[in-house]
Amino acid sequence: MEEKIINCPHCGGNACFEQQISEEVNTHFCFGCGYSTSTLMVEGSKLLSDTLETSPELYKDLMFVGEDKQVWFPSTVTLPNKGMVFLDGTSKENWRWAAVQSVEILAEEKDKFAKDQTHKMDMKNIQHFEQKDFMDALDHIKFFDIEVAEKE
Ligand SMILES: [Zn+2]
Repeated sequence: MEEKIINCPHCGGNACFEQQISEEVNTHFCFGCGYSTSTLMVEGSKLLSDTLETSPELYKDLMFVGEDKQVWFPSTVTLPNKGMVFLDGTSKENWRWAAVQSVEILAEEKDKFAKDQTHKMDMKNIQHFEQKDFMDALDHIKFFDIEVAEKE
């Protein structure tokens, strides 16, 4: 899998990772603004209409369309054994990143979860980060500590 760093068309930063998934498909994930897209996520595509149908209003409001018609959304990052980073807010102007660490499921509550699940998101430890601090939110769930092989 090939990976390179490009300038982000959304925030203009230089921490946007381009990853070649297959011959036709590549994805973009920006560590600066937290937005991501793929070559399948373009104006007029089925993937986009499906995404719009299932996404909360706030995501739609924050959608960004690049010059190449590729459509970007704020990312949701889930690492089941570490935590989750997601968008939390009420409007385009008023939102922040939220980070939640996962905790180990206790023996007495194991029957409430899937058999192979070992961790759950602990909403009690939710922490918020400013829009520009996506990296700090990722850091909060120890995103950067994981082995490369574990990353999607
Ligand atoms: Zn960006």
